[in-house]
Formats: sequence, C-alpha cells, structure tokens
Amino acid sequence: MSKLRLTDIKKSYHSGEVVHALKGVSLEFRASEFVSILGPSGCGKTTLLNIIGGLDRYDEGDLTLGGKSTKHFKDKDWDAYRNRSIGFVFQNYNLIGHQTILQNVEIAMTLSGISVSERRAKAKQALESVGLGDKLNKRPNQLSGGQMQRVAIARAIVTDPDIILADEPTGALDSHTSVQVMDILREISKTKLVIMVTHNGDLAEEYSSRIIHLRDGEVQSDSRPIMSDTDHGERTREAAATSSETAAKDTDGGKLNVGKTSMSLTTATSLSFRNLLTKKGRTLITAFAGSIGIIGVALVLALSNGLSNYITTLQAETLAGFPVTISKGVQQVQAPTGPPDELTGGGGSGEGEYPSGDVLRVADDNADAEQHTNTLTPEYFDYIAKIQDELPEAVNAVSYGSGVEMNVLAKGDDVLKFETSQSAASGAPGGFGASAPTYWSELSGDEDYVLSMYDLIGEGSRYPSAANEVAVVVNSYNEVDKAFLEKLGLNGDNADLKLTDLIGKPLLKVIPNDAYYTKDASGLFAPASASAYEALYDGDEGTELTVTGILRLKPDSSSSSGLLSEGLVYTPALTEAVTDSASGSAIAAAQQDSDRDVVSGAPFAEETMKDARLQALGADTEPTSISIYPKDFDGKEKVKAYLDAYNDGKSSEDQIVYTDLSEMIGSVVQTMLDTVSYVLTGFAGISLVVSTIMIGIITYVSVLERTKEIGILRSIGARKKDISRLFNAETLIVGFTAGALGIGIAYALTLVINQVLNGIIDIQNLAQLSPVNAIVLVLGSMLLTLIAGLIPAKAATKKDPVIALRSE
Ligand code: ADP
Ligand code: MG
Repeated sequence: MSKLRLTDIKKSYHSGEVVHALKGVSLEFRASEFVSILGPSGCGKTTLLNIIGGLDRYDEGDLTLGGKSTKHFKDKDWDAYRNRSIGFVFQNYNLIGHQTILQNVEIAMTLSGISVSERRAKAKQALESVGLGDKLNKRPNQLSGGQMQRVAIARAIVTDPDIILADEPTGALDSHTSVQVMDILREISKTKLVIMVTHNGDLAEEYSSRIIHLRDGEVQSDSRPIMSDTDHGERTREAAATSSETAAKDTDGGKLNVGKTSMSLTTATSLSFRNLLTKKGRTLITAFAGSIGIIGVALVLALSNGLSNYITTLQAETLAGFPVTISKGVQQVQAPTGPPDELTGGGGSGEGEYPSGDVLRVADDNADAEQHTNTLTPEYFDYIAKIQDELPEAVNAVSYGSGVEMNVLAKGDDVLKFETSQSAASGAPGGFGASAPTYWSELSGDEDYVLSMYDLIGEGSRYPSAANEVAVVVNSYNEVDKAFLEKLGLNGDNADLKLTDLIGKPLLKVIPNDAYYTKDASGLFAPASASAYEALYDGDEGTELTVTGILRLKPDSSSSSGLLSEGLVYTPALTEAVTDSASGSAIAAAQQDSDRDVVSGAPFAEETMKDARLQALGADTEPTSISIYPKDFDGKEKVKAYLDAYNDGKSSEDQIVYTDLSEMIGSVVQTMLDTVSYVLTGFAGISLVVSTIMIGIITYVSVLERTKEIGILRSIGARKKDISRLFNAETLIVGFTAGALGIGIAYALTLVINQVLNGIIDIQNLAQLSPVNAIVLVLGSMLLTLIAGLIPAKAATKKDPVIALRSE
C-alpha cells in the first residue's frame, strides 16, 4: 500500500478576508488503520480531508504517496488519483437523485472503463457487503439516512481504493444507524486506510484505532503517530509484510500518473438522458422552445420546396407546351429572353439619371436596344426547317403563322360575317395577348400533341384533319361563350343545346377573295355587303366547314389556360388552302401593283402597313410567324440553344429574336416566390436564434441545478472534460428532441396547410417537407443547441468540486 504522508501542509482561503484553514499539518498514515479526526467546527477538518482526497489543492508543503511527491501533479493526475485511490463518504451522502442505488454505485466505475457486466457485478457485491443487496433498483429518496450512507460507502469502496475518506459520515444519523455505519467502516479499515472526520468522540473512541485532534488548522494531538517509538516495531513489521506489495504498488504509482479516467460518451449520454427523464415536463418545454425555430424553418422549406416544385412541374408540364415563337417585324426585346448583346436596355446615354442643371437630352427610341426588327430570311426558314431533324427528341411540332385573312360567313338563323382577326397581321397563337377573343384559331402542333392535352368529348367526336373540318374547344365546364354562339348566328340563350347538336354540323363557309371582293369601276375592290352574304353562302364558291369534334382540356392538366383558345379551331390544311387561293386572287395581284389600299383607296402611311395588307390578301405567302412546340422543358432549352446558335457571329440587325411566353410567366412567378421565401426565411431565422438562446439559458439553469452532481462526479474522479461532455450530451439530447419534435409538428402542420390550400386554390400537397431537409434540420437543431450549451457546459467544468459539494 502506498504510504500517505503530509508534510507541513498549509492552506488558506482568500474569499473576503484571508482564512488560514491549515497552518502546517504533518501527518503520516498507515496502509490500513481507522483514523478519526476530531476538532471543533471550522478547525480545518474538511479542508484536510479534501486535500488528502485530491479535491482541494494545498498551498504549501507536500503530500507524498508511497514516497512520491504530488507537487507536480496535473489535473488529470489528480482525477486519476481520486478515481483509483480514493473513496469519499460525505455527511450528506451526495448521491445522485435521478439514479438508482445500483447506478449510483456503478458510476465510479464508468469513469475507469470497466465493462458493463463487471461493473454491475462489482456494484452488486459492494451493495451486498453493506447489506443493501435487496435495494438495488431503489432511488436514494426511497431510502433512510443510514441506508443512503451505506450506499455512499458502497460507492466509495467499489473501485477498491486504498484510502476511504469519510467526512462526518454519521453526522446526520441516529445512534443506532451510526453504529451500523461505524461497523462497516471498521471492517473496511482492516484492509484499507480509513480517515474519518467526526464530532462524536465516543464513537471515535470506540471504533477507531487512532485519534487525531485538530485545532485552528494545526494538529493538537495524535494518539498513535507513526514516528513514535512504540509504533516503530509495528511499522517495520508491516513494511516487511507488505514489501513485495509496496514494490508492486510503486510501479502502480507510476501507472497512477499516466493513467487516465474518462467517461465514455454512452455513459455521459445515459446519465444525461436519465437526468432529463426525471424532469420530463421541463425537458419537453425546452425542446418545444427549441423546436419553434425548427418548425418555422421546416415550414418555409416545405412551402418554398413545394412551390418551386409546383412551378417547375407547371413549367415542365404545361408551360412547356407553349411554343417558342419567332415573329416577323418589330419585337420588344424582353431582358430575360433577349440575346445577351441586346440587353443594354433602359433610357439614357450612359450619363446617369436625374441630371442637374438645364439639360435636355434626346433619346432615339429606334436606336434603343429594347426594340429589334426580325427580318425572316429564306436562310432562316431553311434553318428552322431543319430543326425537327436536328432535334427530334426536343421538338414536337413546328407551325407557321400566316397573315392571310379569311373571309368567313356563319350560317345561323341569318348568315353573318364571322370576324376572324382583331388586327390583320397578328400571327401569335391563341391564349395570350388577345384583348377580346376571336373564337377562331389554328390548331397548332400535330394531332398526337393536341390530344395529349385535350380530350375529344361527345358522341362521334373526331379530330379535324381536312381543310373543311373544324373543332369546338369548350372549357372544363363544357361551356362556350354566349358571344361565340351569337357570332355563329345561333341563339345565345339556347339552354338545351347539346354537344351532339354541334358535331357534324356545317356552321361556316370560307369564301375566296375573288368571290368576296368585287372590283368596281374606279378600280377599287369592295367586300361583299351584308345583303349578299346569304347568296354567297349558298353559292358554289368556297369551303363549307363542318364541326367534327369537341375538344376539352384534360382534367389532370395542371394549367387552366391551355394550348388552344376557346371557340373554333381549324386545321393548318385550311390555312394552306386559303393562302393558295388568295395568292392567285385578283385583289392580291392588284394590291401588289398599287401603292394605295385597294379597298379603301387611301395611301399607306407606312411601308409596313402595305406589307400587312399584302399578307392579309394572300399576295405575300411567306409565314409571318414560326411557332416551335417543344416536347418538354429540356426540349425547350435545346430549341432555344438551337435558335441562339443561329445568331452567333451575326451582326445585331441580322439576328432573330424569339419569345418564350412561359419563361416570362415562370420568371415573374419565380421572383415572387424567391421574395416570399427570403422574407419567410428571415422570420424563421429570427425564431431559430431566439429559441437557441432560450436553450442556452435553460441549459445554464440546468448547470446551476446540477452543481451538486458535478461535485460528486468530480469527487469520484471525473475530469473537467467529462463534465462538459455530460452537459453537451444533455444539450444534444435536447437538441435532438427539439429537432424531432419540430419536424413532427411541422409535418403535421404541412398536412393542415395542404388541406387548407387545397380548399382555397386547388393545388394538391403544396407543402412538402423532404426527408433530407428533415434530417438536416434535426442535425442543425442539435448543432445549434450544442453551441447554445457550450458556454453553460464550460461554466460547469469550471466549478470547483469542493464548492460544488458544499452547495445544496
Ligand atoms: P471544519 O470541517 O473543521 O468545520 P473546514 O475545513 O470546512 O472546517 O473550514 C476551515 C476554515 O476554512 C473555516 O474557517 C472555513 O470558513 C474556511 N473555509 C473552508 N472552505 C472555504 C472556502 N472554500 N472558501 C473560504 N473559506 C473556506
Ligand atoms: Mg467540515
């Protein structure tokens, strides 16, 4: 056994006035004896014990263990010393309240890395040896004082230390139980050094083998000092008996310096977990406070996730259906879609806004890059003609808009002129741009493509294919506008109209220019008058159009505005036929040769207006617009790349710009979405910060509450690191709970939000919390709480174990 020797130990405290607690104490102890230290309160007994136990540090003098000085001991050496060589027994037992008796005893061994089963067995054995084998799973508050003290003794001896230090172990016990405790201590003292501080002189007298009186920090008397002659023989005898053991212990002493105690992460976690379990309510509230930020962030993520998914799907599914269009003539170049070198929009000539002084500047609008004139050359048409061969996987259909005007008559109750255009040369496809509907548009794309988005409804409904066939497009309620019916000359109030009434019905007739316009004496052409309509309709000239089918947007289509506009849709074959006949008409030839409008006789104000008239009358058969229908979103990107490639290396005026309506819509929505997301994320971030701070505070309170436990753990050899590990484990658990709780609540809320949104705007499952986001958020919550808990955990490690133990 290592001999314990104190040489002139001095210790003073400097809080407020200086207290000299120990004024030079020299003592030597035998490897096994029962020493009682007696003395009035405040004479330094506890200080002495704490210094022997390595809980407190001496100021001067030396403490040697088996001849080895401890002057140069580091923290970890003291930790190991406490854990391996010292067992503490306190007056107030110092058991950890939220642990069972068995766990309280086991805890000392969890620091020295003993296997679970061995730990358990040893703890049981120690508890049995103090007569508590039947109370293993009780908690400290279920035991009497004497029993608790016996648990404390079991804890002190379970690691088989050399020295047991007991500070007034019977101070809180009645005389009967005191005797039991003293019996146990005396038994232990047969193989170990037991140093006991007590007030009870009688018990000391009766049980201990040596009594030391302390007074004012000095040894007053020692009943059996080692240096005395009477002891000499015994000491020699003992030394001889244990010499081999001493040698062994000396190497052990070497090990003592190197040896480390450490609390495993699992121990720290289970300790914290059990502590948290004892205060479930508060843990839940803490976790809830922490989860609020997580809920916020999770919801924002779920919503913006869902929204951008929705937008993407919308774009991919529906907006992708909108063509990329190239139109002849003057284009307004939109910043996001224009070629890169066309982007220098905005007014000014680079001289800055809000000029001061008497400045008037002149801006040339035509020189401005916001406008661009597309000149569709034969070369360009050739280039476009090849796109379907070049990008078969990207392009669904290419259709050409014609500026030709059709003379259409409708035969309802009366024969009426069916106006087919708002403004003459507009080649834009239906859907966007038109202020009032014309109910008249060309079927764009091919049959497969249209039927991928539209259902043919009604008995006998068939897709129109020939020039003399048309289809009626109804909305999702099977509605057609009253104005449309009236335009057809049908009674708009007719309530019992059926789908089948329309199918197979000849409704309209397209009259060729030569029959529609008559040349008068002055050489001007006059369109047919209303009175001539009936005769024209019944005449031989022209193509009668028959409705072959009814088209309705498919229910699963996510767009409310489809490819086709409501009303009549005719085939490209009709356009071709009309263009053919118009180009050979007399009025077309006449217009080609004249600088005046051959109908009104008025001169053209601008060259472009003549061009438009030539287009309308069929004298110019070149398409006015090209619509390229991509297969999907990727396809659209490829088409655009193909179109951009044409412009490469071309001078600015030779470039051809295109329009992508869906992208414009998409980017506006995306910008709104981003703005909303940023704002929401900001709010969520604030709540995250607030809840992090809250967790920090609550952890700090927990540190204050667990001061005693920190002291106990330190007294049995826990390092500072272990203490911070303990609190970090606790914050991690709280962080995990907060994260999991937050994700759970957020998930429940997404269900509610989806339910509500579904009711209001008919979008299925908008809010979607992705599993990856959920995991990241839980981890983030753990990280944040860990950070929040770092300062309190640090504070916990700084606690002086002696003061921690003194606290209640
Ligand atoms: P005892 O255990 O014999 O009653 P202590 O060893 O606890 O006495 O205390 C000895 C003296 O040192 C007392 O005067 C006490 O007030 C003082 N003391 C003990 N610990 C501290 C401390 N941490 N800070 C300041 N003074 C202390
Ligand atoms: Mg004391």
